[in-house]
Amino acid sequence: MAMISTDVLIIGTGPAGSSAAALLSTYGIENMVINRYRWLAATPRAHITNQRTMEVLRDLGQTVEADAYLHATPQDLMGENVFCESLAGEEIGRMKSWGTHPLSKAEHLLSSPTFMNDLPQTFMEPLLFSTACRRGTQARMSTEYLRHEQDADGVTTVCLDRLSGEEITIRSKYLLGADGGNSLVAQNENLPIEGKMGVGGSMNILFRADLSRFVAHRPSVLYWVMQPGADVGGIGMGLVRMIRPWNEWLIVWGYDISQPVPKVDAVMATDVARQLVGDPTLEIELLSASTWTVNDAFATQLSKGRVFIMGDAAHRHPPSNGLGSNTSIQDAFNLCWKLSHVLKGQAGPGLLDSYTAERAPIAKQIVTRANQSIGEFGPIFEALGMTGGDDIDVIKANMDARCGTGPEAAKQRAALDAAIAFKKYEFDAHGIEMNQRYQSAAVMTDGQVEPAFTRDADLHYQPTTWPGARLPHVWLYDAQGGKHSTLDIVGGGAFTALTGLGGKAWVAVAKTVGAEFGLDVAAHVIGPRQRYIDHTGDWARIRDVSDAGCLLVRPDQHVCWRIDGLATDPTAELRRVFAAILAR
Ligand SMILES: Cc1cc2nc3c(=O)[nH]c(=O)nc-3n(C[C@H](O)[C@H](O)[C@H](O)COP(=O)(O)OP(=O)(O)OC[C@H]3O[C@@H](n4cnc5c(N)ncnc54)[C@H](O)[C@@H]3O)c2cc1C
Repeated sequence: MAMISTDVLIIGTGPAGSSAAALLSTYGIENMVINRYRWLAATPRAHITNQRTMEVLRDLGQTVEADAYLHATPQDLMGENVFCESLAGEEIGRMKSWGTHPLSKAEHLLSSPTFMNDLPQTFMEPLLFSTACRRGTQARMSTEYLRHEQDADGVTTVCLDRLSGEEITIRSKYLLGADGGNSLVAQNENLPIEGKMGVGGSMNILFRADLSRFVAHRPSVLYWVMQPGADVGGIGMGLVRMIRPWNEWLIVWGYDISQPVPKVDAVMATDVARQLVGDPTLEIELLSASTWTVNDAFATQLSKGRVFIMGDAAHRHPPSNGLGSNTSIQDAFNLCWKLSHVLKGQAGPGLLDSYTAERAPIAKQIVTRANQSIGEFGPIFEALGMTGGDDIDVIKANMDARCGTGPEAAKQRAALDAAIAFKKYEFDAHGIEMNQRYQSAAVMTDGQVEPAFTRDADLHYQPTTWPGARLPHVWLYDAQGGKHSTLDIVGGGAFTALTGLGGKAWVAVAKTVGAEFGLDVAAHVIGPRQRYIDHTGDWARIRDVSDAGCLLVRPDQHVCWRIDGLATDPTAELRRVFAAILAR
């Protein structure tokens, strides 16, 4: 029985586990990641990669961010979200999605230095995993987690080496369960999960076929096919999803969860593809076929003692809104700097309690949103007259009725337009992606009231420096005119103090007090003839504090404290703040 030791053992090399490994190694924390299989994701499940995730990649290094764009389908090719009878058949409606509507695009550009893109999981995982391994992570494939026990000093985990059949024991100070929607770590630790698993059945059919003639003139990631039968189970209708433009595809098709799981063979896969593409002679190169279930469950507690869960282990939901892998990577960004600070003795273990306080509400929010988005296909089916039984002729007649000249047809068209436009909550919900605000002991509001959302918080990002919110992005300039996002001058595993010329005194205080806590705090004055200059005045307009005020930003780019001007005793003030936030 081999005994291996590491500081942090991570179960799973998915987006959650690989990003945690990459972040921990970047912060200089010894870690090991294991996967029961011999390699990473075999199918391109997650793909929509939102701006907040790209900011995490950018924080890992601009080469990591650049690699993601290199392999991704760019945002401009993502957005003509089409609803049709089949790819070759009649188009029923369309909505500009994923930040490609001109108004939405402006919001994206104003919110972040990064771009949404379509990066299949088969590219994202290798990128994160190789970053981790290059920076020091020990990886063990074909190694299956079986069980663990924790004590006051650490966790002893037993795994199966699937190559030799031997059990191995790994001793770590912390254990991260990034082991997906059927998390054995969560189960063994008895972490409370609310909701239901297996509420719908779906199958994935991955294939190659050149479909350019149907799609290249209306580029999109998703083509929704509304046919009788397509609303059975799964995600609500037939989906033809672009993997690589325009010759690799994934069909997602529902099955009735109350029936046995269908066996998807080449004949069935070809039939489904022909039906959804609308070309009875289509030949496909079938790459793989699999089934999965739609879940509606989230953990209300994400850790117990030295064991943490993250990613799908903590939030289990359908792909709607494309939040799964994104949220998994963002979980890691939240947890890893905390682990790093505790392991380096810079923070007390109490800091780790803020992980559940901050991320459990997000888990609930995204699971609720993703499942609600499935339900919101209902009005489209209703408007088309697809909900009153399964007589195909009746359904066809109902769908045709919208093309009439009378008032009933006009009403039907209006209902269809409204139902499609409402899908903005799934396909263009920028607020859900960017508005995460934390409330925990690792954030000090000092009684400052959270600013209310002035627009729909699911749809629109609203910048604020209220403690708990992500630092807003604006462009700053250096003396040579070079551009730097505010997000580029914070993060990187460190706390950062930001102030104006009137608050210059905060810089020395932040450095001194930081050193007392064993921290290398970064501190920047933003102003004329400083390293970062606010030529446009955008920073002054968005910072919410005066020129003499100060913002303290955590390593995960969330503001954790702010003050409007110079304090009477700035040193005592920052000591109080660091002691509270770091649980010292
Ligand atoms: C069709 C589809 C489309 C999707 N689209 C999107 C999208 O556009 N955007 C998005 O953000 N999300 C999307 N998702 C969701 C996304 O795939 C998941 O949310 C994401 O993979 C979760 O990452 P994870 O690392 O938590 O878990 P997983 O990716 O499931 O990884 C779990 C890891 O743990 C390992 N493991 C499990 N058990 C053990 C064990 N006992 N021992 C050792 N290793 C173990 C596995 O081998 C794997 O490496 C989609 C999902 C599907 C099905």
